[in-house]
Amino acid sequence: MLGTVLDALDTGARARSGPLPAGGPDGVARRLREAVGEILPEQGDPHALHTLVRAFAEGAADPAHPLCAAHLHCPPLAVATAADLAVSALNPSLDSWDQAPAATALESIVTRALARHAGATDALVTTGGTESNQLALLLARERHGGSVRLVHGANAHHSLPRAAWLLGLPEPVVVPAPGGTLDPDALDEALTGLPGPLLVAATAGTTDTGRIDPLPEIAARCAAHDARLHVDAAYGGGLLFSDRHRTRLTGLDAADTVTLDLHKLGWQPVAAGLLAVRDTRDLAALRQHADYLNAPDDTEAGLPDLLGRSLRTTRRPDVLKVAVTLKTLGRSGLGALVDQVCDHARQFAALVDGHPDFELHAPPVISTVLFRPTGATDTTVAAVRRALLTDGSAVLGRARLDGRLWLKATLLNPATGPDDLAALLHLAAASRATLVEGHTPR
Ligand SMILES: *Cc1c(COP(=O)(O)O)cnc(C)c1O
Repeated sequence: MLGTVLDALDTGARARSGPLPAGGPDGVARRLREAVGEILPEQGDPHALHTLVRAFAEGAADPAHPLCAAHLHCPPLAVATAADLAVSALNPSLDSWDQAPAATALESIVTRALARHAGATDALVTTGGTESNQLALLLARERHGGSVRLVHGANAHHSLPRAAWLLGLPEPVVVPAPGGTLDPDALDEALTGLPGPLLVAATAGTTDTGRIDPLPEIAARCAAHDARLHVDAAYGGGLLFSDRHRTRLTGLDAADTVTLDLHKLGWQPVAAGLLAVRDTRDLAALRQHADYLNAPDDTEAGLPDLLGRSLRTTRRPDVLKVAVTLKTLGRSGLGALVDQVCDHARQFAALVDGHPDFELHAPPVISTVLFRPTGATDTTVAAVRRALLTDGSAVLGRARLDGRLWLKATLLNPATGPDDLAALLHLAAASRATLVEGHTPR
């Protein structure tokens, strides 16, 4: 069956000429419907594995393709993907020790090691940055009460105000971030006179631009105002692996909680999120008892109590692929991947800057480059992106900054070469030229 899957992945990828299937949503859905036929036939189909995997691969947005650069959507490391296969085969579940003995022990090793790496004490495994941010707000609420008010920059991830809404917290205070990062003086002003308890959320690696809020200054303001600090390092957390870039996260260890996301700058198959916690007393809020999973006498007799390590019950050990990756590549191996994608961003920004038909938004901070065709309207910028998506030749993202729409290249593929970067820019230029010839209305 493994051979069948590998063959189907290969033939599917070959049938797709670029990073994305051509034809847009209608074309893709039609081809998929034709390949699938009846999904629940009366009699089973022994070829379904090949048929469906092939169609799935043909219609995929392939993050391993060097021209797939829209989102924080990484090409997974083969070794992590292989480890994840073992998880599917063994199917442990981390809601009780008797379903996951070694997984329990491995999770404890990995979470503590990664937490220490981020200057924290312990970490919970999550499905990603969204769940980590939500847990961070929940822990703050349980520690400081339901009146805790979230204060975040205008550059923060949308999951933070959404978590405040979900948890019934007061309306968050949004601090302007005109330069793309949270301004400590504006934060100070916002915190002054604001009734507590307060929870400040800073970002280390914004989703749109990869910018990093000034963490030491923010931490100092939080200390002065007795505010709790959460740092969303879903994107930037990976910089911790790099000798060259780690210092950009100075101040991270002052945070009470930190969101990390190894399915971004960690090259893991989804999901691989973490919430690192400085004071493990915060975790008491998640304590939960269900007699069939963690009866008090079992816990007293030494069986690990796992229910309080997540809001989920059945839980896949995402930690195996992470452990295999950390040990296979080592810190320096992961750091080298981080350095490569940061270098690619600098190279791509230089290409944009030297091109007469493009404007660069700003020098990249991590691995995101924002650019736009010179003199184009926002409508044209959006149309360039959609034209590339529709013909499947390149996948670029979009971001609205400083009142204008930009194309976004999020470079997460360490194997991308200089020719690929040139090709990406060339495709954007060609797409714009075609649109202008076609007299796209302004
Ligand atoms: C991606 C991202 C998130 C959300 O993470 P998911 O894994 O998609 O849930 C949160 N914050 C930031 C800054 C991000 O870039």
